Amino acid sequence: MNTEMETMYESLGISKKVLEFGAQIEEHLKERFEEIDKRAEFNQMKVIKAMQDNRVSDIHFAATTGYGYNDLGRDTLEAVYASAFHGESALVRPQLTCGTHALAVALASNLRPGDELLSPVGKPYDTLEEVIGIRDSIGSLKEYGVSYRQVDLLPDGSFDFENIRKAINEKTKLVTIQRSKGYATRPTLSVARIGELISFIKSIKPEVICMVDNCYGEFVETIEPTDVGADMIVGSLIKNPGGGLAPIGGYIVGRKDCIERAAYRLSAPGLGKEVGASLGLNQSFYQGFFLAPTVVAGALKGAVFAANIYEKLGFDVIPNGTESRHDIIQAITFGKPEGVIAFCQGIQAAAPVDSYVAPEPWDMPGYDAPVIMAAGAFVQGSSIELSADGPIKPPYAVYFQGGLTWYHAKLGILMSLQKLVDAGMVDMLK
Ligand SMILES: *Cc1c(COP(=O)(O)O)cnc(C)c1O
Repeated sequence: MNTEMETMYESLGISKKVLEFGAQIEEHLKERFEEIDKRAEFNQMKVIKAMQDNRVSDIHFAATTGYGYNDLGRDTLEAVYASAFHGESALVRPQLTCGTHALAVALASNLRPGDELLSPVGKPYDTLEEVIGIRDSIGSLKEYGVSYRQVDLLPDGSFDFENIRKAINEKTKLVTIQRSKGYATRPTLSVARIGELISFIKSIKPEVICMVDNCYGEFVETIEPTDVGADMIVGSLIKNPGGGLAPIGGYIVGRKDCIERAAYRLSAPGLGKEVGASLGLNQSFYQGFFLAPTVVAGALKGAVFAANIYEKLGFDVIPNGTESRHDIIQAITFGKPEGVIAFCQGIQAAAPVDSYVAPEPWDMPGYDAPVIMAAGAFVQGSSIELSADGPIKPPYAVYFQGGLTWYHAKLGILMSLQKLVDAGMVDMLK
């Protein structure tokens, strides 16, 4: 390590011991990083091909207002998403305000009173509990007469095929499969495993709609769940596919009839995809999608780096330092609230924006325990930008993700470690 670099890190608050420890870990990650770069290269080509095939042009960046009839930029962007993710159709809109909203629209539009929704992969993401009605909420699917059934993963993380078979009945209309672990400490599903699950479900009931909550998974592998039989994939544009540039938005890609129902639900029956002005956001959607494969690669390097650092220090990490990745999230279990808080304060302190504030736990809408969130983001709440969050409840795990560049992710992780050292939780680097 040259002294110029040391001095720079020191000026940001990273001690020599922490920096050197990080350098030792990084030294062993060269091969992992090369693999990540190869996948990014493939996905970059995939996105460019989709843009070329749909003849993306400068005219598509123009703003529309009002009804947004004949918004060429919006329609072509949707064609690009459909091409890149191999779906028949897509809905990609700023009017889909977040991931939860996109998922709620995909679900509510494709389910009818009397239908049943099945999650064969355990409890879904916290905010979906109210969408579904697992926790009572105004306007939940439950209020509209849609019932819900859940089959948990087996203790070793595998699918409980026997009970999934039993759970599928004449009412089962839609199956929701969450790719990423979310706030659970279970393994994330690979696209291949999602494919196996979908084949199994369709072998029992072919007409069931299989929807994948694809949040945090886009561009981590070279295929997406639509390549292995998913009827719909759904995600947020302030996560992976927005590439850090999309200031808002969600997407749904998949079967034409499913997307049409979603569009009718999002706007109104009869209007569907025809309305919805893009308000000048198109350029950032296109450019963000273009950058997304390399941004995801930087975030993945950060996740792998964090896993190896904290594993070495004796904390439980999911995924572990060596296993393959299927989303950009890294869970680290500290076992105490102080660990979660110190970690998040470190991520915040490394941010380009709002680095001088210290985050505290608060009761966020949609969550059942106080949550602490660190994000010094250009886009509020963006979690493709370097961010960390953790519910203040056992096992006191923190979920870390994002980083628009690998170097920023690295600084964030070193800073989190510095805060833990300062808080007396990592004695060996004192
Ligand atoms: C982030 C996320 C959501 C919800 O997205 P928001 O944009 O926060 O509403 C849903 N499912 C998973 C797995 C997520 O990671």
